[in-house]
Amino acid sequence: MITLALSKGRIFDETLPLLEAAGVSVDAVQADSRRLIVPTADPEVRLIIVRASDVPTYVRYGAADLGVAGRDVLLESGVEGLYQPIDLGIARCRLCVAVRQDFDYAQAIRRGARMRVATKYVECARQHFAAKGMHVDLIKLYGSMELAPLVSLADAIVDVVSSGGTLRANRLVEVEEILSISARLIVNQASLKTQPRRIGALLDAVARAVSAQQAAERSAHPSPK
Ligand code: ADP
Ligand code: MG
Repeated sequence: MITLALSKGRIFDETLPLLEAAGVSVDAVQADSRRLIVPTADPEVRLIIVRASDVPTYVRYGAADLGVAGRDVLLESGVEGLYQPIDLGIARCRLCVAVRQDFDYAQAIRRGARMRVATKYVECARQHFAAKGMHVDLIKLYGSMELAPLVSLADAIVDVVSSGGTLRANRLVEVEEILSISARLIVNQASLKTQPRRIGALLDAVARAVSAQQAAERSAHPSPK
Protein backbone atom coordinates (compact mmCIF):
# COMPACT_ATOMS: atom_id res chain seq x y z
CA MET A 1 0.00 0.00 0.00
CA ILE A 2 1.18 3.53 -0.83
CA THR A 3 -0.12 6.36 1.40
CA LEU A 4 -0.17 9.94 0.10
CA ALA A 5 -0.72 12.80 2.57
CA LEU A 6 -2.69 15.83 1.37
CA SER A 7 -4.27 18.87 3.00
CA LYS A 8 -7.86 19.88 2.25
CA GLY A 9 -8.35 23.09 0.29
CA ARG A 10 -6.28 24.34 -2.58
CA ILE A 11 -3.72 21.55 -2.48
CA PHE A 12 -6.34 18.80 -2.40
CA ASP A 13 -8.43 20.40 -5.17
CA GLU A 14 -5.44 20.92 -7.47
CA THR A 15 -3.74 17.59 -6.74
CA LEU A 16 -6.79 15.43 -7.57
CA PRO A 17 -6.75 16.21 -11.32
CA LEU A 18 -3.03 15.33 -11.47
CA LEU A 19 -3.66 12.05 -9.63
CA GLU A 20 -6.56 11.30 -11.94
CA ALA A 21 -4.33 11.86 -14.98
CA ALA A 22 -1.77 9.58 -13.32
CA GLY A 23 -4.38 6.81 -13.08
CA VAL A 24 -5.21 7.30 -9.41
CA SER A 25 -8.70 8.77 -9.43
CA VAL A 26 -10.71 9.55 -6.33
CA ASP A 27 -14.46 9.14 -6.22
CA ALA A 28 -16.16 12.55 -5.74
CA VAL A 29 -18.30 11.26 -2.85
CA GLN A 30 -15.25 9.89 -1.05
CA ALA A 31 -13.38 13.14 -1.69
CA ASP A 32 -16.17 15.20 -0.12
CA SER A 33 -16.67 12.98 2.88
CA ARG A 34 -15.25 13.68 6.32
CA ARG A 35 -13.15 10.56 6.13
CA LEU A 36 -9.50 11.13 6.88
CA ILE A 37 -8.41 8.01 4.99
CA VAL A 38 -9.68 8.13 1.42
CA PRO A 39 -9.42 5.18 -0.97
CA THR A 40 -8.55 5.68 -4.64
CA ALA A 41 -9.37 3.73 -7.79
CA ASP A 42 -5.99 2.05 -7.36
CA PRO A 43 -6.44 -0.43 -4.47
CA GLU A 44 -2.73 -0.01 -3.67
CA VAL A 45 -2.94 3.78 -3.18
CA ARG A 46 -4.79 5.64 -0.44
CA LEU A 47 -4.90 9.28 0.62
CA ILE A 48 -4.75 10.64 4.15
CA ILE A 49 -6.07 14.11 4.95
CA VAL A 50 -3.94 16.18 7.34
CA ARG A 51 -3.26 19.85 8.11
CA ALA A 52 -1.02 21.52 5.52
CA SER A 53 1.77 22.12 8.02
CA ASP A 54 1.59 18.49 9.23
CA VAL A 55 2.21 16.93 5.78
CA PRO A 56 6.05 16.91 6.11
CA THR A 57 5.75 15.32 9.58
CA TYR A 58 3.65 12.39 8.33
CA VAL A 59 6.06 11.81 5.47
CA ARG A 60 9.22 12.25 7.54
CA TYR A 61 8.06 9.55 10.00
CA GLY A 62 6.94 7.26 7.20
CA ALA A 63 3.25 7.32 8.23
CA ALA A 64 2.76 8.51 4.65
CA ASP A 65 5.09 7.45 1.83
CA LEU A 66 4.40 10.60 -0.14
CA GLY A 67 2.85 13.99 0.45
CA VAL A 68 2.06 17.27 -1.24
CA ALA A 69 3.25 20.43 0.52
CA GLY A 70 3.79 24.07 -0.36
CA ARG A 71 7.35 25.37 -0.59
CA ASP A 72 6.44 27.71 2.29
CA VAL A 73 5.60 24.76 4.54
CA LEU A 74 8.75 22.88 3.51
CA LEU A 75 11.00 25.87 4.21
CA GLU A 76 9.37 26.39 7.61
CA SER A 77 9.51 22.75 8.66
CA GLY A 78 12.81 21.70 7.11
CA VAL A 79 13.26 18.86 4.65
CA GLU A 80 15.57 16.36 6.37
CA GLY A 81 14.73 12.81 5.40
CA LEU A 82 12.54 14.01 2.54
CA TYR A 83 13.14 13.60 -1.14
CA GLN A 84 11.52 16.31 -3.32
CA PRO A 85 11.38 14.89 -6.83
CA ILE A 86 8.61 16.96 -8.45
CA ASP A 87 7.48 20.57 -8.41
CA LEU A 88 3.78 20.09 -9.13
CA GLY A 89 3.36 23.72 -10.21
CA ILE A 90 0.02 23.95 -8.35
CA ALA A 91 -1.24 26.10 -5.44
CA ARG A 92 0.99 28.88 -6.72
CA CYS A 93 1.33 31.95 -4.57
CA ARG A 94 4.09 34.10 -3.12
CA LEU A 95 5.33 34.90 0.34
CA CYS A 96 5.39 38.63 0.90
CA VAL A 97 5.62 41.45 3.38
CA ALA A 98 2.46 43.57 3.62
CA VAL A 99 1.58 46.66 5.63
CA ARG A 100 -1.37 49.02 6.10
CA GLN A 101 -1.91 51.35 3.15
CA ASP A 102 -1.14 54.31 5.42
CA PHE A 103 2.12 52.86 6.80
CA ASP A 104 5.32 54.14 5.17
CA TYR A 105 7.43 50.98 5.15
CA ALA A 106 10.35 52.50 3.21
CA GLN A 107 10.57 55.38 5.65
CA ALA A 108 10.37 53.07 8.68
CA ILE A 109 13.35 51.16 7.23
CA ARG A 110 15.30 54.40 6.60
CA ARG A 111 14.69 55.51 10.18
CA GLY A 112 15.89 52.12 11.39
CA ALA A 113 12.65 51.68 13.35
CA ARG A 114 12.34 48.32 15.05
CA MET A 115 9.23 46.89 13.41
CA ARG A 116 6.88 44.28 14.77
CA VAL A 117 6.06 41.63 12.19
CA ALA A 118 3.26 39.09 12.68
CA THR A 119 3.45 35.82 10.78
CA LYS A 120 2.90 32.09 10.66
CA TYR A 121 6.23 31.89 8.74
CA VAL A 122 8.65 32.78 11.52
CA GLU A 123 11.66 30.97 10.00
CA CYS A 124 11.25 32.47 6.51
CA ALA A 125 10.62 35.92 8.00
CA ARG A 126 13.65 35.70 10.30
CA GLN A 127 15.91 34.86 7.36
CA HIS A 128 14.44 37.55 5.13
CA PHE A 129 14.87 40.41 7.61
CA ALA A 130 18.29 39.19 8.77
CA ALA A 131 19.47 39.22 5.13
CA LYS A 132 18.29 42.84 4.87
CA GLY A 133 20.07 43.70 8.12
CA MET A 134 16.76 44.71 9.72
CA HIS A 135 16.02 44.12 13.39
CA VAL A 136 12.40 43.09 13.80
CA ASP A 137 10.31 41.57 16.55
CA LEU A 138 8.51 38.54 15.20
CA ILE A 139 5.10 37.64 16.57
CA LYS A 140 3.94 34.09 15.81
CA LEU A 141 0.34 33.74 14.64
CA TYR A 142 -1.53 30.70 13.32
CA GLY A 143 -3.98 32.42 10.95
CA SER A 144 -5.80 35.65 9.95
CA MET A 145 -2.48 37.50 9.78
CA GLU A 146 -4.19 40.34 7.87
CA LEU A 147 -5.88 41.43 11.07
CA ALA A 148 -2.67 42.13 12.99
CA PRO A 149 -1.76 45.53 11.44
CA LEU A 150 -5.40 46.69 11.65
CA VAL A 151 -5.54 46.32 15.43
CA SER A 152 -1.91 47.47 16.03
CA LEU A 153 -0.61 44.06 16.97
CA ALA A 154 2.09 44.52 14.30
CA ASP A 155 3.43 47.03 11.77
CA ALA A 156 3.78 44.41 9.04
CA ILE A 157 2.85 40.82 8.23
CA VAL A 158 4.58 38.08 6.28
CA ASP A 159 1.97 35.95 4.54
CA VAL A 160 1.17 34.05 1.37
CA VAL A 161 -0.71 35.96 -1.31
CA SER A 162 -2.10 34.86 -4.65
CA SER A 163 -4.64 37.30 -6.09
CA GLY A 164 -4.12 39.97 -3.43
CA GLY A 165 -7.88 40.08 -2.80
CA THR A 166 -7.61 39.45 0.95
CA LEU A 167 -4.95 42.16 1.33
CA ARG A 168 -7.10 44.68 -0.60
CA ALA A 169 -10.21 43.81 1.39
CA ASN A 170 -8.28 44.68 4.55
CA ARG A 171 -6.57 47.82 3.15
CA LEU A 172 -3.14 46.26 3.17
CA VAL A 173 -0.48 46.58 0.47
CA GLU A 174 2.32 44.25 -0.52
CA VAL A 175 5.70 45.95 -0.07
CA GLU A 176 8.20 43.10 -0.64
CA GLU A 177 8.13 39.68 -2.24
CA ILE A 178 10.15 37.09 -0.32
CA LEU A 179 9.67 33.95 -2.40
CA SER A 180 7.51 32.41 -5.06
CA ILE A 181 5.71 29.28 -3.95
CA SER A 182 4.21 26.20 -5.51
CA ALA A 183 3.39 22.78 -4.10
CA ARG A 184 5.96 19.96 -4.25
CA LEU A 185 5.61 16.22 -4.08
CA ILE A 186 7.66 14.91 -1.18
CA VAL A 187 8.71 11.31 -0.61
CA ASN A 188 9.94 9.42 2.44
CA GLN A 189 13.46 8.28 1.55
CA ALA A 190 13.08 4.88 3.22
CA SER A 191 9.80 4.22 1.35
CA LEU A 192 11.55 4.86 -1.93
CA LYS A 193 14.16 2.26 -1.00
CA THR A 194 11.65 -0.39 0.13
CA GLN A 195 9.09 0.12 -2.69
CA PRO A 196 11.21 1.50 -5.55
CA ARG A 197 9.14 0.06 -8.40
CA ARG A 198 5.71 0.97 -7.12
CA ILE A 199 6.66 4.46 -5.98
CA GLY A 200 8.88 5.02 -9.00
CA ALA A 201 5.98 4.20 -11.33
CA LEU A 202 3.69 6.60 -9.47
CA LEU A 203 6.33 9.37 -9.59
CA ASP A 204 6.76 8.86 -13.33
CA ALA A 205 3.00 8.99 -13.91
CA VAL A 206 2.64 12.17 -11.82
CA ALA A 207 5.60 13.81 -13.59
CA ARG A 208 3.94 13.09 -16.96
CA ALA A 209 0.63 14.50 -15.70
CA VAL A 210 2.40 17.69 -14.54
CA SER A 211 4.14 18.12 -17.92
CA ALA A 212 0.86 17.59 -19.77
CA GLN A 213 -0.96 20.08 -17.54
CA GLN A 214 1.76 22.70 -17.99
CA ALA A 215 1.82 22.19 -21.77
CA ALA A 216 -1.98 22.66 -21.84
CA GLU A 217 -1.67 25.85 -19.76
CA ARG A 218 1.02 27.22 -22.09
CA SER A 219 -1.10 26.63 -25.16
CA ALA A 220 -4.15 28.21 -23.47
CA HIS A 221 -2.12 31.27 -22.39
CA PRO A 222 0.80 31.62 -24.81
CA SER A 223 3.44 33.97 -23.47
CA PRO A 224 3.69 37.17 -25.59
CA LYS A 225 6.53 37.10 -28.13
P1 ADP B 1 -3.70 26.47 5.81
O1 ADP B 1 -4.58 27.68 5.87
O2 ADP B 1 -4.10 25.34 6.74
O3 ADP B 1 -2.24 26.76 5.87
P2 ADP B 1 -4.19 26.48 2.93
O4 ADP B 1 -5.02 25.49 2.17
O5 ADP B 1 -4.65 27.89 3.01
O6 ADP B 1 -3.95 25.82 4.38
O7 ADP B 1 -2.74 26.50 2.33
C1 ADP B 1 -2.08 25.33 2.00
C2 ADP B 1 -0.95 25.69 1.07
O8 ADP B 1 -1.48 26.23 -0.14
C3 ADP B 1 -0.02 26.78 1.63
O9 ADP B 1 1.00 26.20 2.39
C4 ADP B 1 0.47 27.44 0.37
O10 ADP B 1 1.57 26.71 -0.17
C5 ADP B 1 -0.73 27.32 -0.55
N1 ADP B 1 -1.58 28.51 -0.47
C6 ADP B 1 -2.02 29.15 0.62
N2 ADP B 1 -2.75 30.22 0.32
C7 ADP B 1 -2.76 30.27 -1.01
C8 ADP B 1 -3.34 31.17 -1.95
N3 ADP B 1 -4.03 32.24 -1.56
N4 ADP B 1 -3.17 30.89 -3.26
C9 ADP B 1 -2.49 29.80 -3.66
N5 ADP B 1 -1.90 28.93 -2.82
C10 ADP B 1 -2.04 29.17 -1.53
MG1 MG C 1 -5.16 29.40 4.38
